[in-house]
Amino acid sequence: AGYSGSVVAERMASSGFKVLVIDRRPHIAGNAYDCCDAHGVRIHCYGPHIFHTNAPRIFEYLSRFTTWRTYEHRVRSWVDGRFYPFPINRDTLNLLYGLQLHNDAEAQAYLESVRVPQSQIVNSEQVVLNAVGWDLYQKFFYGYTKKQWGLEPSEIKAGVAARIPVRSNQDDRYFTDEFQAMPKDGYTAMFERLLAHKNIEVRLSTAYRDVCDEIEARHVLYTGPIDEFFDYRFGKLPYRSLRFEHYHVPEKEFAQEVGTVNYPNDFAYTRITEFKHLTGQQVAGTSLTKEYPQAVGEPYYPILTDANMELFQAYLALAKTLEQVTFVGRLAQYRYYNMDQAAAAGLKAAEYLLEKLS
Ligand code: UDP
Repeated sequence: AGYSGSVVAERMASSGFKVLVIDRRPHIAGNAYDCCDAHGVRIHCYGPHIFHTNAPRIFEYLSRFTTWRTYEHRVRSWVDGRFYPFPINRDTLNLLYGLQLHNDAEAQAYLESVRVPQSQIVNSEQVVLNAVGWDLYQKFFYGYTKKQWGLEPSEIKAGVAARIPVRSNQDDRYFTDEFQAMPKDGYTAMFERLLAHKNIEVRLSTAYRDVCDEIEARHVLYTGPIDEFFDYRFGKLPYRSLRFEHYHVPEKEFAQEVGTVNYPNDFAYTRITEFKHLTGQQVAGTSLTKEYPQAVGEPYYPILTDANMELFQAYLALAKTLEQVTFVGRLAQYRYYNMDQAAAAGLKAAEYLLEKLS
């Protein structure tokens, strides 16, 4: 009942198919699930989810199920005892090094002088060194990446660090996508509307494994971990997990200046997110979440190393032999999807299924 599955369910149901949605958790919305805590603040139970996309098709599609609150996410990074704009921009450079870079050209020239050009860019260390050089790499990226993944940045595919831009202007937004917004009543409410179709039945707290033998379906769309589907036949495919520490500060209206503060070098957590910035709620006190990366627990992120992607390819080859099962989503496709990409994968799968089954 996360993005990919719910989108497929809605599309198929709207074309007259009967859909049974099974989720092993006791709630819908996958990792986007949000709820109000004991203090009335809407928090994201599985870490911060900020919607952004450049695809009008996705924004329009989801807009059928929610209205939006315009929100542009901002992040600061806590480095050597100070907060800096992150992603790195001109202000970051000026603040950090006491420079006076007045325009884009001067900032670009500075970055040109410190970057360490790479002859090939295949891993995350090379991405960052190529863009900003050693000092900025060590201050903002190395520690965070090590904490987040439990690996050296040089072991992780380039695409992971390449998610983060480097800017010569003063734009301090985390994303620059055309559409940036939060579902007005939260993600869970949006998913309730997505799934509220007479042709959709949702069964929660139900593991696929426990019921797959008794269900007759023309087709199965599987959105869980692909290695689990095949009983770990080729070994476990690693996913990175997190522990979330949700807490409330009653005496403050806000505890930090922006939605998220990253901690690349200090502490065991990677970042702290304060939800009132995201939701715009006006309630007393403030609620925040710390994210502690860990190897065990719920699978949240595919870990994009060469070895893991090779292992995934083996599972994918198996998956392709199954005519009546389609694998979609972050866990089933072992892709580092953002929310809009997970929704897009769902739309694409639904188009394929409608053609195949109609
Ligand atoms: N990253 C980093 N320092 C930061 C933020 C991100 O080195 O302050 C790197 C890190 O490897 C992280 C990746 O960039 O896993 C992608 O960051 P993003 O904020 O997109 O991660 P997500 O929100 O998906 O957890």
